[in-house]
Amino acid sequence: MPQHRICRRRCPHEDCRSNREGLRTKLVLHSRLMTQRGERRRLRCKHCDRTFVSTRGTVYYRLRRPRAVVDRVSRASVDGVAPAVISRVEGVSLGTISRWKARAARHAWRFTQEHLLIDRPVELQFDELKGHGATEESDTWVYNCLEVSTRVWTSWRVARRTLRSTTVLAREARDRLRCITEPVLCTSDEMKYYPVSLKRAFEKFCVHVQVDNRYSSGRLVRTNWKLTWGPRWRLDAARSRSEDSKKPNTAYVERLHLTMRRGCSYLHRRTNGRMRKRRCLGENLALQQCHYNFVRPHASLKLDKQTRTPAMQAGIFNRPLTLREIFSWVPKPDPWLDRLPVDETRRQDPFRARPSNS
Ligand SMILES: [Zn+2]
Repeated sequence: MPQHRICRRRCPHEDCRSNREGLRTKLVLHSRLMTQRGERRRLRCKHCDRTFVSTRGTVYYRLRRPRAVVDRVSRASVDGVAPAVISRVEGVSLGTISRWKARAARHAWRFTQEHLLIDRPVELQFDELKGHGATEESDTWVYNCLEVSTRVWTSWRVARRTLRSTTVLAREARDRLRCITEPVLCTSDEMKYYPVSLKRAFEKFCVHVQVDNRYSSGRLVRTNWKLTWGPRWRLDAARSRSEDSKKPNTAYVERLHLTMRRGCSYLHRRTNGRMRKRRCLGENLALQQCHYNFVRPHASLKLDKQTRTPAMQAGIFNRPLTLREIFSWVPKPDPWLDRLPVDETRRQDPFRARPSNS
């Protein structure tokens, strides 16, 4: 079911009946108050009779600067402008930029978790990208998964190359698919963990092909591929549905990697802005993923005169969103999710599973 709507009104109290029992939100205007930035409205929830300011739960809650500055800083940040440059241009200190970014990234991550669901997936491509970390973080990789027919960047993960992180990525990609009616074609490079991980996450709902790209002086000269999971007839059925790929390839996810490199200095080649904390790279990616899927029109998704976003192609929204709309969305209050680091999910670690009483 397409959503086409963003929830902008919700009671921010976790124990409120409207959140616990999923009732319809009933908010009324309680009062108006004047601040340095102009008028702010205070709302009252008719279920629990508590009041709160209308920006509660959004990225703009309790900010001293105008919203437009936060939007511009976030926008520059996903376009790969260095924080030092943003700081000089906007006149905002580096500490403030980093705090805003952390908050915006968490919000974007929650937004993606709630809204990104693909109805009829056709082809998934998996690949890893080397992050340029300093000293102890030097062995850091960014895993990515892209759904080719909609160009939706379904999931990412910052980790070392292990079986566990590959499985977590595959499960996260599986979570972003709503219903799989026909087997999905999954392609990846030759890393040894993919066949096991994809088999665990998708079972009979996918067919997996490993692609071996041969390069000569920087150009792709030959592509070999081999079937590693699923019967041959399933592969033929999956390939016949794919309009974008004539032969199994990982070209689309590699193109995504270029976009990511341009938007994040930690992933640039020969960068001098090396990553020192994985958390910072995770925050960058959460914001970038949200911007890529919901905000940025994708050049290859052009229909008549309109250039669509991946989320429009997947039928989730019927127009490109703006960062303002995403930042003004109010997530369901969930202290447990709010404490989790941005690059983790519930599935990440069985020992860190959600406590049963909440
Ligand atoms: Zn309430």
